[in-house]
Amino acid sequence: MKNIVLFGPPGAGKGTQAEVLKEKYQLVHLSTGDMFRYNIKNATELGVLAKSYMDKGHLVPDEVTIKMLNAEVEKNAGANGFIFDGFPRTEAQAASLAELMDSKDSQINAMVALEVDDEILVERLLKRGETSGRSDDADEGVIRNRIKVYYDETAILKDFYQAQDKYHGVDGVGTIEEITERLSAVIDTL
Ligand code: AMP
Repeated sequence: MKNIVLFGPPGAGKGTQAEVLKEKYQLVHLSTGDMFRYNIKNATELGVLAKSYMDKGHLVPDEVTIKMLNAEVEKNAGANGFIFDGFPRTEAQAASLAELMDSKDSQINAMVALEVDDEILVERLLKRGETSGRSDDADEGVIRNRIKVYYDETAILKDFYQAQDKYHGVDGVGTIEEITERLSAVIDTL
């Protein structure tokens, strides 16, 4: 079983690469951002709550995020492994994920991080906003806030996984195929 945390700032290409890698390695792709957007679309209670944070570029509180993620992992009990995309984003989430994996006699095998300069991220997200329909991609202020939240709250997780010798940084600039190759070079060693 391979469990991978696909990491990187907003706009780094995590979702795009996760879609390719899940087919290539037969893994289940779990994106907390997609789960929240699904709930928003269906106007659930969770969706209404999540939207109030997402529209400002803030993180949704750990408690609800962790509960939602755990339920999705449980739903996929027979999985060959998971690609976690957009989770964990805080130390509490990382600790909870380690506990969850442990309870399944499993573990996170690697954090693979897509590294992309901030100005390229802003440019990519504004461009995505033209077609994605995501309100958090449409406003440069919200985009910059999401990048700031990444550095303030999420980037520290590099240390968390590095301390376990599980961190792998990959250049996130290039064609989709080039980046898949770089990620695969790491995943194939796991
Ligand atoms: P993403 O699709 O990963 O860019 O996430 C979009 C938004 O959903 C983020 O800006 C957060 O508001 C929220 N979100 C997604 N994943 C998480 C998470 N693990 N913890 C807290 N908030 C999250």
